[in-house]
Amino acid sequence: RRAKLLLGVRDDLKLPLSAVAVLKERYLLRDDHGRVAESTGEMMDRVARHVAQAEEAWSPGSAQRWVEAFSRSLRRLEFLPNSPTLMNAGTSLGLLSGCVVLPLEDSLVSIFGTLGHAALLHQAGAGTGYSFSRLRPRGDAVASTGGAASGPVSFLSVFDAAADVLAQGGRRRGASMAVLDVSHPDIVDFVQAKAAGGLEHFNVSVAVSDRFMRAVLRGTGHRLVNPRTGKAVARIDATELFDRICRAAWRSGDPGLLFLDRINQANPLPSSGRIEATNPCGEVPLLPYESCNLASLNLARFISGGQVDFERLRAAVWLAVRFLDDVIDVSRYPIRELERPAHDSRKVGLGVMGLAELLAVLGIPYDSEPAIRLAGRVLAVIEKEAHQASAELAAQRGPFPLYQHSRYAGQGTRPLRNAQLTSIAPTGTISLIAGTTSGIEPMFALSYVRHILGRQLPEVNPHFERLARDRGFWSDQLRAELDRTGMVRQIPHVPPDVRTAFVTALEIPPEWHLKMQAAVQRHVDAAVAKTINLPEQATAADIRAIYLAAWQARVKGITVYRYGARPGQVLTLADPG
Ligand code: UDP
Repeated sequence: RRAKLLLGVRDDLKLPLSAVAVLKERYLLRDDHGRVAESTGEMMDRVARHVAQAEEAWSPGSAQRWVEAFSRSLRRLEFLPNSPTLMNAGTSLGLLSGCVVLPLEDSLVSIFGTLGHAALLHQAGAGTGYSFSRLRPRGDAVASTGGAASGPVSFLSVFDAAADVLAQGGRRRGASMAVLDVSHPDIVDFVQAKAAGGLEHFNVSVAVSDRFMRAVLRGTGHRLVNPRTGKAVARIDATELFDRICRAAWRSGDPGLLFLDRINQANPLPSSGRIEATNPCGEVPLLPYESCNLASLNLARFISGGQVDFERLRAAVWLAVRFLDDVIDVSRYPIRELERPAHDSRKVGLGVMGLAELLAVLGIPYDSEPAIRLAGRVLAVIEKEAHQASAELAAQRGPFPLYQHSRYAGQGTRPLRNAQLTSIAPTGTISLIAGTTSGIEPMFALSYVRHILGRQLPEVNPHFERLARDRGFWSDQLRAELDRTGMVRQIPHVPPDVRTAFVTALEIPPEWHLKMQAAVQRHVDAAVAKTINLPEQATAADIRAIYLAAWQARVKGITVYRYGARPGQVLTLADPG
C-alpha cells in the first residue's frame, strides 16, 4: 500500500490534514538534521514495539506476537494511548504516563522540590496536579524568619511562571491542576485567582465536602481552618462563598468543583491515604507521586450494521488493558519518587473517544434517553471486560502489590492486576489524530475553525458532509449556513432525523451534558473529564444550578465553560458575525 504524502509526511494511515500537521510538528521522530524520520503508521509500530518489550519478562520470545497485535489495532485507530506514550515511546524521554499528582507540604523544601520535579515532568509532556490545601495561609507566621507567609495563591503563580518558561521548549504544554480545600482561609483569593488574569497553565478546582454542600443548601455557616494549626480562624456564610465560586466560574470557567468525599468513597487504596487532587483535566484522582497511563478506545471504529459491535469492542478492551499494563513496566520515570507508587498500585485509565460520532452515525441524538442508555451500556461493558482482563493478567503476572491493602481484597472477587482500570480522558489530541469527536463530548459544531499550531484550519464535520452528499442535500448554500451558526437544528431543508442526530454542544441543555457525565461515571473507576458547555448568555445562576445538580448526581467533579469566556479557544465558530 502506497502512503500518501501530506505536508511532506508519509501518511500511510490516511489521517485528516490537521492530524498530520500536529503529528509532524510534535510527535513524529526526527533524524539528526531535524527531518521527519517516520511515517504515521511507523509511529504506531514504534509505540507497539516499545510497549511489547514488557511481554518478554513474562514469556520470552512472545514480544513479536504482541508487537503485531498492538500495531494492528493502533494502525486501525481502534485505540490510542495518551500523547506522552505516542511521543516518547522508544526515545530518550522515556516517560509514557499522561498524568501525575505531586505533593505540596507546608515547607519551602517541599514546595520548591516539587516545582523542580514538575519541570522535568512537563518537559516529558505529562500533566501535573497538586493540592495546595496544606500550605499555611497568607499572613500566617513563619517561625524561621519571624515574617508573614505569602500563602497558596502566591506559590501558585510561581508554578505558573515556571510552566510558562518551560512551555517554550517542550513539545506539549504541561497542563496543571491546582486544588484548594473549601475550608482553607485563602479560599476567596483562590476562587478569584484565575478570573483576575494569568495562571494560563492551570485549571483550578475547589475541593468541596458534602458538609459544605449541605451548608450551602441550608444557608448555614462554614468554618475556615488554618491547616498549620488545625484551628478555625473564621466563620463565613457558605452560600455567599458558593455564589462567589459560581460568579468566578461564569467569568472564566474556573474554578471547577471536586467532590472529594465522592472521590474517596471510590478510593481503591484508602489505607495509602486520602486523595486530595486530580490530574489537570480531572479524570484521574491520584495520591501524591502516583501517575496514570491513559488510553482511549475509538468508539466510532466499533460500529457494524448500524449497531455497536460489542464482540470486537470486548476484544479491544482486553488488548488495551494488556497494553496499558505493559506501559507501566517500560515507562521510565524522570524522578525516582514516581517509580514505586506506579508499580505498587499499577493504576491505568482506559476510556473512550468518538461517543458523539457513534451516536450521530447511529442516528441517536446526544440529548436523549436512548443516548444516555447506550453510553451507560457501552461503558458498563468496557468496565466489566477491563476488570476481567486485569484479573486474567493478575492470574499470570500477580496482583498489584498493594492488593491485600485495597478495598477489593476480601470482596470475594478475583484479584486484579491494576488498582484502577477505567477513566474518561478529554482526548484533546488523540481524538484529532483518530479523526473523531473527543472523549464523551458532543460535537462542538458542524463547521468550525480549528486554531492549531498558529494556523487556522476551517473544517466541516466529515460525517455530516458525507451523509449530506449521500442523501443529496449538500449544497453551497448549506455550507454557508453551517459556517454562519455551526448548527443544523434550525435549517429547514435538512431532514429532521439528521437535524436531531447532529446536535452540537451549545444546543444541548446543560442538564443533558450532566446526565451524560453521570451515566458514564457510574461505570468508570476513576473520573470523567467533561465540560458542561453553556451559551454566552448563560448566567451565574445557571452555573449555580448545574454545580448543585452535579453534587446531587454524584459525579466526582464538574467543569463548566461559557462560550467566549476565554480568549484563545481551540475551536471557534467559522463566522462569528
Ligand atoms: N495533558 C497535558 N497537557 C495538555 C493536554 C493534556 O498535560 O496539553 C495531560 C493532562 O493530565 C490531561 C491528560 O494529559 O488530563 C489527558 O489529556 P488528553 O486526553 O486531552 O491528552 P491527549 O492524549 O489527547 O494528548
